[in-house]
Amino acid sequence: MDSKILDQLLHNNLFRTVADKIQNNIRISSEEGLALYESNQIAVLGLLANMKRERLNGKNAYFNRNFHIEPTNICLHNCKFCSYRRKKNEEGVWDYSIDDMLNICRKYVGQGITEVHIVGGVHPDHNLEYNAELIREVKKILPNAHVKAFTAVELDYMIKQSGYDWAEGLQHLKEAGLDSIPGGGAEIFDEKIRAEICEQKSQSATWLGIHEAAHKQDIPSNATMLYGHIESYAHRIDHLNRLRELQDKTGGFNAFIPLKYKKYHNSMRQIGEVSVVEVLKNFAVCRIILDNIPHIKSYWPMLGKELAAIALSFGADDMDGTIDDTTKIYSMAGAEETNPALTSDAMVCMIKEAGFIPIERDSVYNVVKNY
Ligand code: SF4
Repeated sequence: MDSKILDQLLHNNLFRTVADKIQNNIRISSEEGLALYESNQIAVLGLLANMKRERLNGKNAYFNRNFHIEPTNICLHNCKFCSYRRKKNEEGVWDYSIDDMLNICRKYVGQGITEVHIVGGVHPDHNLEYNAELIREVKKILPNAHVKAFTAVELDYMIKQSGYDWAEGLQHLKEAGLDSIPGGGAEIFDEKIRAEICEQKSQSATWLGIHEAAHKQDIPSNATMLYGHIESYAHRIDHLNRLRELQDKTGGFNAFIPLKYKKYHNSMRQIGEVSVVEVLKNFAVCRIILDNIPHIKSYWPMLGKELAAIALSFGADDMDGTIDDTTKIYSMAGAEETNPALTSDAMVCMIKEAGFIPIERDSVYNVVKNY
């Protein structure tokens, strides 16, 4: 973005300061981040976020070919925002055996899949050895696929169950074939809000500690933020600052995924959902603040395809994967994508229509194919 064009557009000291900082690779302050959140100049926020996006990723918009395994929706915890968890014997519950999950993997042999994403509830009976065995067997069937598995919340439980510390537990999983860990379970780090919405879940320090331990062992990861519920803008800034600080230390986060709270089938439904404007504003502010995390994901199974494509102009540069209708987490919370699946041709078309260059990537952003 030409700074002269911005000068014509911006009649505001805040925007001018932020634009200058982006152009000069200077980090914005918490106060400036908060002021951006409080601004309603959505088009200007998009321009600013796009400046940062283009500095980091040019016009590239990434995706990969992946599928998910959700081993179970039985979960020890009971987060108020969760639409996914079921009790044993409750209608809608599932609890796959390792054989069931390997049969899912067999369907993808020879299909050009580069990533298996494994995330589910915190199953009370599944310790680290069980999950290491799962990864080992998945790798036998899909030896070239990257296995991204288990949120820090699942890891916290399984590592404790098996009597290891974080470093030992992660080392065992890495030896079994774990390649990276996904970003779920971060929710909002503020301890008071966390106690309100997911009291039993692993603490913020645990989430951050497990990701730090993973990065120290060269296991990269992603990060998320669940927003649009009872948190304030200041809580979002605090969350982003804690991620930015850890990234300064380790450099181990590949991507950040802002996750919008969805209101269906959970006990917080009375608070409703934030608007499309808020979703785009959040993308923009996150892109500007998280100046050291290379990629921002526009997670289409949650947002819907059209909004996910629009988010590419508000700082996002990654559409996640083709998924092939293998995740239920957001459809159970009322997402419009009830059977999320995209062919790579459809993904390429959607990205081109949005004005970006489709790049098929692997899980650590090596280019597989430039379209
Ligand atoms: S959000 Fe995750 S940890 Fe919380 S209840 Fe749902 S499945 Fe369990």
